[in-house]
Amino acid sequence: MRALALDFQHRSLSVVDFPEPPSPAPGQALLEIHEIGICGTDRELATFGYAAPPEGESTLVLGHEALARVVHDAPPFRKGDWVVPMIRRPCSPACASCSAHRTDLCLTGNYLERGITRAHGYFTRFAVDPVGVLVPVPAALVDVAVLAEPLSVVEKAIATALRLHPLSPRTATVVGAGPIGLLTAFALQARGLQPTVVSLEPEDHPRVLALRGASIPYLRGRNPALADLVFEASGAASHPEWLAPLGVLLLIGASEHAVPLDPIRMIVGNLSAAGIINAGPAHFAAAFDDLARIPRPWLDSLLLRRSFDDWPTSLAGPTPVPKPVHLMN
Ligand SMILES: [Zn+2]
Ligand SMILES: [Zn+2]
Repeated sequence: MRALALDFQHRSLSVVDFPEPPSPAPGQALLEIHEIGICGTDRELATFGYAAPPEGESTLVLGHEALARVVHDAPPFRKGDWVVPMIRRPCSPACASCSAHRTDLCLTGNYLERGITRAHGYFTRFAVDPVGVLVPVPAALVDVAVLAEPLSVVEKAIATALRLHPLSPRTATVVGAGPIGLLTAFALQARGLQPTVVSLEPEDHPRVLALRGASIPYLRGRNPALADLVFEASGAASHPEWLAPLGVLLLIGASEHAVPLDPIRMIVGNLSAAGIINAGPAHFAAAFDDLARIPRPWLDSLLLRRSFDDWPTSLAGPTPVPKPVHLMN
């Protein structure tokens, strides 16, 4: 079967002939992959960012945001069920977090991630996974379920924010208007919080228009009012100075900029900061709750479906405006 893979020997990205997966063992399911979402991580991997092939191999199949269908009955799943796989696999020997099914909190950093590091991804036709990593997709949400993986990270950030804020936060500033920034703003708005997005896109940019459609205020490169929560989703500078007292700073976008935390202001203001990566099962469940809650036109505005063969347009050249989703069949 064909697969989009990084070749570490020749430093190339191309479609290769990849062996079909072995028959699933008990407790595993054979998956037919239908859709693959592309994000900034994939674009970075395409330049050999922090990708690594599985041990003893020289290629890595890309694709980590997948929507798939179970091919044969694999309890608790039935043939034809729609699923989204979680992408991390435990470190070995498994640390306390990985043993407890919280690979997102891995203590050793020796986890595998399908399509990112040391485990093949899903940009192909078939894959096999343990049933324990498969998240069931409600029938009404199949057409937006490819957003569940990126949204799960946002859900982990929101859950962390609600846990760390000592009262009930009401206002939030989201830094960055990429797909993660927009999903954060949409999820907060749908839950009744008041998000404002700060980014650099011009006022007539499609993503800014999507925010307007959702009645979410947008500030182009201007300082917002102090907010209870600040979500850094731009990969650029983070802004703890935009926190109101008791505020929580959530770092989602991987930035190499230093975070200018003023210790006195943090102490006096009872401020917190947290880094967010990957997500656990509860965050995927929350993602599906929010996918059902967020108005469908807002979600549709994020997605652009493309064929398998259109991968070069999504992975090289200018950053695509809506999120590219490739159809595997
Ligand atoms: Zn991603
Ligand atoms: Zn671990």
